[in-house]
Amino acid sequence: MNSLLNKFDLAPFSKIKNEDFLPAIKNAIVLAKKEIATITENNEAPSFENTIEALDYSGEQLDRVSSVFFNLNSAETNDEIQKIAQEVSPLLSEFSNDVALNVDLFKKVKAVYDQKENLTLSPEQQTLLDKKYKGFSRNGANLPEDKKETLRGIDKELATLKLTFGENILAETNAYELHLTDKNDLKGLPEGALEAAAQVAKQKDKDGWVFTLDYPSYIPFMKYVDSRELRKKMALAFGARGFQKNDYNNEKIVLKIAKLRYQRAQLLGYDTHANFVLEERMSGSPEKVTTFLNDLLDKAKPVALKEFKELETFAKELDAIDQLQKWDSAYYSEKLKNKLFNLDDEKLKPYFKLENVIDGAFSVANKLFGLHFKQVNTIDTYHEEVKTYEVTDNTNNLVAIFYADFHPRKGKRNGAWMTSFKGQKIKNGVNDRPHVSNVCNFTKPTETKPSLLTFNEVTTLFHEFGHGLHGMLANTTYPSLSGTSVYWDFVELPSQILENWCFEKECLDLFAKHYETGETIPMEFVEKIKASANFQEGMATMRQLSFGLLDMSWHGANPNDITNVKTQEVLAFKNTTLYPDVPENCMSVAFSHIFQGGYSSGYYSYKWAEVLDADAFEAFQEQGIFNPEIGKAFAEHILSKGGTEHPMTLYKRFRGQEPKPEALLKRAGLL
Ligand SMILES: [Zn+2]
Repeated sequence: MNSLLNKFDLAPFSKIKNEDFLPAIKNAIVLAKKEIATITENNEAPSFENTIEALDYSGEQLDRVSSVFFNLNSAETNDEIQKIAQEVSPLLSEFSNDVALNVDLFKKVKAVYDQKENLTLSPEQQTLLDKKYKGFSRNGANLPEDKKETLRGIDKELATLKLTFGENILAETNAYELHLTDKNDLKGLPEGALEAAAQVAKQKDKDGWVFTLDYPSYIPFMKYVDSRELRKKMALAFGARGFQKNDYNNEKIVLKIAKLRYQRAQLLGYDTHANFVLEERMSGSPEKVTTFLNDLLDKAKPVALKEFKELETFAKELDAIDQLQKWDSAYYSEKLKNKLFNLDDEKLKPYFKLENVIDGAFSVANKLFGLHFKQVNTIDTYHEEVKTYEVTDNTNNLVAIFYADFHPRKGKRNGAWMTSFKGQKIKNGVNDRPHVSNVCNFTKPTETKPSLLTFNEVTTLFHEFGHGLHGMLANTTYPSLSGTSVYWDFVELPSQILENWCFEKECLDLFAKHYETGETIPMEFVEKIKASANFQEGMATMRQLSFGLLDMSWHGANPNDITNVKTQEVLAFKNTTLYPDVPENCMSVAFSHIFQGGYSSGYYSYKWAEVLDADAFEAFQEQGIFNPEIGKAFAEHILSKGGTEHPMTLYKRFRGQEPKPEALLKRAGLL
């Protein structure tokens, strides 16, 4: 029996066999196609209900089965599941392409959209109508046949170029190694990094130590190795990826991608690629993003210059360095940080036993949002380590099911994330509550020691739990607007804001207790955590802003006159450089976020989200970090609303005004 062929509520993990997935997904696609056909073949006049709403409720079984499948592929995979994923992915993209290019369906959607002025729709329904219409129009549904053809051609070419861009970087990364056989060259490097490098050497049948341009090898090397010459060698190799005279050079590809994106935007009636992208962002326009970045730069720059001077003085005193170079940055910063704070993870970890930290996160959710978490052992899971909770409100109504999967194991990918096995929606008057999951990779307990978290892991847990609350407290009608289905530059608000509680004494007192003595974390440590979090914040901010400005320089204007990648980059960086330029290096040709991944015109989002979370958290600081009234307002206006209205509207309802950068500047010590 295939338990995924029929409807289910809780995912039936223990009954699922790997061979069930493919037939279940095929079956669900057939079902979804039928639901769409019901819409297109309807003889009645297209209405919001029979078209827009019906479209949003369609494909439910497909969503359920594929979310179970892809969540397992991330958290508990094996060769067989990975093989099935190779078969499933093309089926799913074929299906979604069929929907996106369905002319009959678009006709119906457009018919409803064209009469939107005469319809009586709630704000959520207006948003849904807009979203469904734009889902087609932004893919060219309104274009005449020949231009549609051009658009498909551009999309195809862009897909290939992005792929090649990534392959080139990978090839360049893999092609380089620094092989060392004299241990004296590696003075300064901690034991763990040495061992890892010896391991890499062994794998390559070599003596001594091998370092590569992969982050786990590259970062410690730049941070700790005393030899300035070797650091320089590594840094130059890293910065030259995609910029050398060989088959993997990305310069032409970067120019081509920028120009094709511009051409695509123009075809669809937008000024630039950034205008196209930002139409569906909280920020709204390239002008707003550029102003945002430059305003922050004005504030961060004087602090960054001061910090740079400090670092220069420090390096001069320590090693008589006259001119700091890029390859000195991580090295001297690490040394200066140690001198100033002397705060290592080992001192803090005993105060952060995993169970205590989880309880702390639950307490925060209880005080602010009136949630209760009860661990239950009757819910089916995909691994014995997964904990399950029933989440209820103050009147004992079920709010959500929460899964927590904390430890690394073979078959789980790296990192930490929030996901769900079932989204929230209201259908036929029934509020269907969500099944939300947090997956992390925290050190496992041993026989003698519980799982103790670093402070960074504590904030990670709160961060993912914040995303989790966004999913759990969702209260919308339509599935595609529920929970975390919000604009990209808004989605990190619920997660990042929750991290703030980790820095508050009042919150730490609840849970940060020594696992052996029960002693509450000393005030001195709390102060140090706060101070060290702002170490070199000016320089870090300026660096982030420089990447955002570089992104906008490629996507926020007509790129057709750009002929040289490096020249363009130097121009974009002119207000944000601290270190001398390295002519043989170039960042754009390896800037995967914007040329391979999905961050084009979106790099500013990192800072944008920080401004949001600091500004929103200030509301709590003003009224008390556990003030239930503010908690209620945050849940009501932000967490429960998902993407039902424009995020700026939601935000202003919570905060009374647009977010301002002052709170972030204050928190980061930049004022
Ligand atoms: Zn996040």
